[in-house]
Amino acid sequence: SYVIAEPCIDVMDRACIDECPVDCIYEGPRKLYIHPDECIDCSACEPACPVEAIFFAEDLPTEWHVYADANVDFFTDL
Ligand code: SF4
Repeated sequence: SYVIAEPCIDVMDRACIDECPVDCIYEGPRKLYIHPDECIDCSACEPACPVEAIFFAEDLPTEWHVYADANVDFFTDL
């Protein structure tokens, strides 16, 4: 699935939310999260992000792999 990484923290522009056809982008306290099971990998959100925070999970920069795990944890804890 797609993952929202570090640049979203305390920015939360939300432009991606308007683009997502399945409404799988949710608001956390400091950043947005993409539900890993609901995301259909359409990529519509990626270019909408003004801070380039959104990546296909396998394309995440190495230092941001932690955000893929955080994406899963966020929804596990709900
Ligand atoms: Fe939504 Fe598509 Fe982005 Fe997944 S890739 S979060 S389905 S807009």
